[in-house]
Amino acid sequence: MDHFSYRDGRLHCEEVDLIDLARLAGTPTYVYSRATLTHHYTRLAEAFAAARPTICFSVKSCPNLGVLRTLAALGSGMDVVSGGELCRALLAGVPGERIVYAGVGKTDAEIIEALDAGVGTFNIESEMEFQVIAALAAERGATARAALRVNPDVDPATHKYTTTGTAETKFGVDLSRAREFFRRFAGHRHLRLTGLHLHIGSPVASPEPYVRALEKTAATVDDLARDGHVIDTLDVGGGFGADYRTGQSILASDYAARIVPRLAPMVERGIRIILEPGRFITANAGVLLASVQYVKQSTAKKFLVCDAGMHTLIRPALYGAFHFVWPASCAPQHVPPRRDERPDLPGLEPCDVVGPICESSDFLAQDRPLPPVARGDVLAVFGAGAYGMSMASRYNSHPLPAEVLVDGPRASVVRRRETYDDLLAHEREPRALTIGNPAADRRDTPP
Ligand SMILES: *Cc1c(COP(=O)(O)O)cnc(C)c1O
Repeated sequence: MDHFSYRDGRLHCEEVDLIDLARLAGTPTYVYSRATLTHHYTRLAEAFAAARPTICFSVKSCPNLGVLRTLAALGSGMDVVSGGELCRALLAGVPGERIVYAGVGKTDAEIIEALDAGVGTFNIESEMEFQVIAALAAERGATARAALRVNPDVDPATHKYTTTGTAETKFGVDLSRAREFFRRFAGHRHLRLTGLHLHIGSPVASPEPYVRALEKTAATVDDLARDGHVIDTLDVGGGFGADYRTGQSILASDYAARIVPRLAPMVERGIRIILEPGRFITANAGVLLASVQYVKQSTAKKFLVCDAGMHTLIRPALYGAFHFVWPASCAPQHVPPRRDERPDLPGLEPCDVVGPICESSDFLAQDRPLPPVARGDVLAVFGAGAYGMSMASRYNSHPLPAEVLVDGPRASVVRRRETYDDLLAHEREPRALTIGNPAADRRDTPP
């Protein structure tokens, strides 16, 4: 479900005409719908209401402050995986205690920032990490809470690169080692280990992998309770799917119908439930607008060469991910009834939608039947709100795109398009590092 629709053959985001917007803001531009963000957050909160979850939005899916503020205003907490994301969550006005901090590679500096911010829970990925955070907390006289990220060894049936809860991934600690972990570390005075955390992967198109992971985890919660440990938090992670194709994703209520009954016994025992949705909230809340630079017919194929590519949206290149691509303006007979690989419409021609990057993996869509498109036409790449801008790069020295947040009839630039000055802003004349004087090394102007 989203608030992008064609009116008289022109794509709108809420009340805003996206052809007009592309003309004003230029391309490539990411456009987010505030109503869609709100809708998805609210649906999820309602569906899981019986488990009284704390929803911690996964910042990495779409970290723009305008998006974070929208969700923070709805009461959302945040799931962060770096000091930079923590900085964004705090700037968006989210209180420290509603922030959970995950990630296998937290640095000392990031941990100290999180301790100073009073982060609600550190999700711990290894024995060594527990010891490091506990020592840093003790040094500072701080007390923090921790949840052990367990790896339930459940296959979420998704892409290998976004599978995180099977035995061979780098994430978490094997469920079978949880008791030993608690035996060693629960009871630490400065880092109170009272929770378990799961994140099995994403997108997970069915509730069943969660059910299996929760069954295994519930058994461990029981074991830990028998061992005398207090478990007060269970973080179920993220990974709920999005509608990359019309009707592809199941509803929040479908996930909840299977998952909430598994959580209920724990909720009754006073365990707080945390959810970490990312793409479920943001993916369908964003489109990427790109302009066709060239229409190129080769012997084998027709290419639409755009000003957006793998540097703007890397998911097709990285995961072979599907994004529905369609002209933002089209004839009445070409308004797509569904967002699908092969819409059944007259007069379409298969095209590869590619970018300007010097790589053969630089495509947004391949072999897609599309209506006639001319140089200068605007294409919309749907389902681009999650892991779009957040994974964009400046490869080939392309400045990063603009981001626009739409609210009803209003469109606001929430990140301006980068300039060449932005591209070069951090570069300096070569000079020797002043070893032993880090302040001088970090100084902006050469001495
Ligand atoms: C990436 C991630 C999420 C969010 O995943 P989505 O597919 O966007 O829902 C949640 N929790 C953790 C620990 C993650 O790494």
